[in-house]
Amino acid sequence: MAEDGVLICGAGPVGLTLAIELRRFGVPVRIIDKAAARTDRSKAVVIWCRSLELFARAGLADSLVAAGNKVPHGSILDGAETIAQLDFAELETLYPFALVIPQTETERILEEHLVTLGVSVERQTEMTAFTTSDTGVSATLRAADGAERQVAAASLVGCDGAHSTVRHALGFNFEGSTQMSDWLLADLMLAGPIGEDRILIYWHADGILAIFPMGAGRFRIVADLGPAQQEGPRADPTLAEVVALVAERGPQGITGSNPIWLTCFRINERKVEHYGQGRVFLAGDAAHVHSPAGGQGMNTGMQDAFNLAWKLALVHAGGAGPKLLDSYSIERSAVGDLVLSNATRLTDMALLRNPLAQAVRNSVVHFVLGLSQVRRKAERQLGELDITYAKSPLSVSVVPPPDDLPDAGERLPVPVAGLGARALFTVLGNAGEPAALAAEYPHLVDADTGDDPPGEGLWIVRPDGYVGLVAAPGDLPSAQDYLEAVGRGRRLVEW
Ligand SMILES: Cc1cc2nc3c(=O)[nH]c(=O)nc-3n(C[C@H](O)[C@H](O)[C@H](O)COP(=O)(O)OP(=O)(O)OC[C@H]3O[C@@H](n4cnc5c(N)ncnc54)[C@H](O)[C@@H]3O)c2cc1C
Repeated sequence: MAEDGVLICGAGPVGLTLAIELRRFGVPVRIIDKAAARTDRSKAVVIWCRSLELFARAGLADSLVAAGNKVPHGSILDGAETIAQLDFAELETLYPFALVIPQTETERILEEHLVTLGVSVERQTEMTAFTTSDTGVSATLRAADGAERQVAAASLVGCDGAHSTVRHALGFNFEGSTQMSDWLLADLMLAGPIGEDRILIYWHADGILAIFPMGAGRFRIVADLGPAQQEGPRADPTLAEVVALVAERGPQGITGSNPIWLTCFRINERKVEHYGQGRVFLAGDAAHVHSPAGGQGMNTGMQDAFNLAWKLALVHAGGAGPKLLDSYSIERSAVGDLVLSNATRLTDMALLRNPLAQAVRNSVVHFVLGLSQVRRKAERQLGELDITYAKSPLSVSVVPPPDDLPDAGERLPVPVAGLGARALFTVLGNAGEPAALAAEYPHLVDADTGDDPPGEGLWIVRPDGYVGLVAAPGDLPSAQDYLEAVGRGRRLVEW
């Protein structure tokens, strides 16, 4: 890798996503991992709609979908009684489902794709330390035999998980706590009267039991086992214990076999305040960990990577000043805060033990999710379709958008051919603005993606599909001002 490239520490799902994005944008990449091989533990099993939309730009969504189970429905139940239903099938996206897929498969597909882009993960390579200067980063890498070497890069991204070396070296606090309750995780084959097109969440009086169908008879089970009775981790459950728990809290007449992974875990809820410092950035579990409720952790980390990649690429290509990179932490830390608070809320609801509180919870959720607008909001939130960067310095509304059309910071809901193929902005306007701005700002505006706007107006859309600018039709000065600001690193608004 050239010294002007990006060093990625950690080849989990987040590091692999970042490497793919940077490579397809033409940025030199080195990706290292201290482990000898990919993990065989499938912690995350759901990829949500928005992540798939973003993977589609890299041509990867179809391979992921082909390897997973498309689950369009979800139910919250109390025994045989349905408390609420979720239906992802009507979400306005090309991927209206939860894709249930083992993390091992996700990582396999990502790593194999990365190889086709000319990059292999350097395994058994641990980063032990780094120093930074005005011009770059120098990292110490240790091989399996203990030999150390120095490598240089323009930037370093710590995608090295919850125990991040990069975060420790930055001296960042990982604020939060570990919940003292035990959870069970089981990957196994189930047989009996259970479908594969629905995520089942049982709110049993003794605790929650969630069942995710991975396809071909394989299921993921997560259940809360109540307050921890001991300091250290609880012993792994047996297959018989898992099957008994399913019978007690969930569907009847189910048999289990072929356990792939049976374990217990505790929930950590922690997050850094800033996602980077100078030329060093954090993404994924290195920056935030939380309850698996809602299945957002890996997705949030991957979307950190999607957000950071185009900014690093634009700066690397000289199209934008380094100030653009400040927006990464601002945007993603705000999303991280929201994801953490939502996951905590869902977990707290699931952990209620008082029978009266449980009855109130069930009635309220039944009523509230019975309202179609609230239900749709919950479905969009789970699918991560409602993430917005409205408060970002990169989001500028000169005029309010016409009804139902996206405002600055929001995701453009309609696919635009070629958008995000390069780390360049797309201009949508029908008064000749796309061609005019592409000619004036070739390092910032993609000449091949200009298209009709979704309505009356002028939009500048970022490579990750979020709207940067909304202006009146033909308002070239506002568009020029926006692009000048991004290009020169001038502040768009104070931050
Ligand atoms: C029980 C459970 C269920 C979950 N379910 C879901 C779900 O359904 N959906 C979802 O979105 N998320 C889920 N998550 C969260 C998800 O698993 C994580 O968010 C995700 O794995 C984080 O990916 P990552 O790449 O940031 O980190 P990791 O997967 O932890 O990868 C970090 C990599 O960095 C390497 N590394 C570490 N230190 C160094 C170093 N110094 N030098 C070199 N390499 C290093 C490690 O070897 C590792 O390969 C779940 C988590 C748990 C615990």
